[in-house]
Amino acid sequence: MKTHLAIGVVLLDLLVCVPCHAEQAHRLILADGRIVTVDKVTLAPEGILARLHDREEFYTWTDLEPYTAYHHLGRQLGKGPEAHLKLAEHCIGRGLVREAFSELDRAQALLPEAKARIDKLRKQYETSVRSGARVIIGPDLHADDKPLEEVLAEQRTRGEVTGKLLGVTVATLESKHFIIHTTFDEADRDSLTALAERLHQRFSRTFAVKSSKEFAWTGKVVIYAFARREQFTDFSERAHSFRGTAAGAYFRAAGKQAELVVPRNGTREHFEQDLTHEATHLFLHFYRRTGRIPNWLHEGLAQSVEFKAFPKCPARTDAVTRISQDLSRKGLMKLRDLIDQDRPTAASDLVGYAYAWSFVDYLLEKRRTQLIRFIRELKDGTDLDKAAGKAFGVGLTELEPSWIAHVRKTN
Ligand SMILES: [Zn+2]
Repeated sequence: MKTHLAIGVVLLDLLVCVPCHAEQAHRLILADGRIVTVDKVTLAPEGILARLHDREEFYTWTDLEPYTAYHHLGRQLGKGPEAHLKLAEHCIGRGLVREAFSELDRAQALLPEAKARIDKLRKQYETSVRSGARVIIGPDLHADDKPLEEVLAEQRTRGEVTGKLLGVTVATLESKHFIIHTTFDEADRDSLTALAERLHQRFSRTFAVKSSKEFAWTGKVVIYAFARREQFTDFSERAHSFRGTAAGAYFRAAGKQAELVVPRNGTREHFEQDLTHEATHLFLHFYRRTGRIPNWLHEGLAQSVEFKAFPKCPARTDAVTRISQDLSRKGLMKLRDLIDQDRPTAASDLVGYAYAWSFVDYLLEKRRTQLIRFIRELKDGTDLDKAAGKAFGVGLTELEPSWIAHVRKTN
């Protein structure tokens, strides 16, 4: 049965690694995600004249990433009520909904007599959000330069923006490591924080994580838990510009911010299973530093943790059946193929998923300390073969006989 809905998708859009400088104003993020370092900026009504080290460039407001444009346009327009109204218009046009409404609030505070006019704008904006305009919902790409409390405050507000975007009620819950925005009913939502913390604890125990500083995210992990699948697809397209119809759930790393987006695709247990799978991807991605893990290891580990928590799930039965059939009929796939082709290569590569699980599950069961060393080496930038040598004492493919023996014993 093909019930592997928890297909992990990592969205690394806007992945910008920006060192923390004092000269933050002299760094511009462009709309296509590029970052340019500038010596000087001169503000103009239509945009910014930037002096780069070897030339000058003019960037219009729309050439700039929305938050960057917002920041500089704000400086250009100044502080009066009309400036705030203009900024609100810019923000709504660029998908910065929360900022648009707070600019309207500022304008109204300065100009109480314009209440009727501003209320009208507020209604217009609400309509455009409801009718499907693009809305950017966090994260703030400048978060690395901000105090933790400010980052958390922004992460907490994403539920309200999501509610406005989807026209639904969103509750926000918080625990030590998570901020959860959810459309679940009250009865269903109470246990969400405890569930997320358990997953965090389990990963930390498995990988001997001693302090939450070993995870490279900023603020907390933001989880969107949707009670209905259509809320999830609507959200993924409009808030993350991602076609959620292709995935059961996904995790997202934008800058150093960590997000999990998980709908209830069926039963409550199914939801918990999907969350377990995606959270493992996310923890692994942010463990020590972002990225640097091949797909076979990512998917293998996510499934290994998932299947240990849900040993009776159809996806596990499916993988076990595939592997046992290969073992008795034609022999197992070569580890070299799994690793060189970095399978699974697509969401539909169920054979790749099954083998990635089998091999990584063996590493986790039989060579956990070595596996941890291997992952740490990869995260430090050591290449795959060297990392394997350091961690296992042999190349990965030389582990084949003992992996096969393990499969024979356990299948
Ligand atoms: Zn996955």
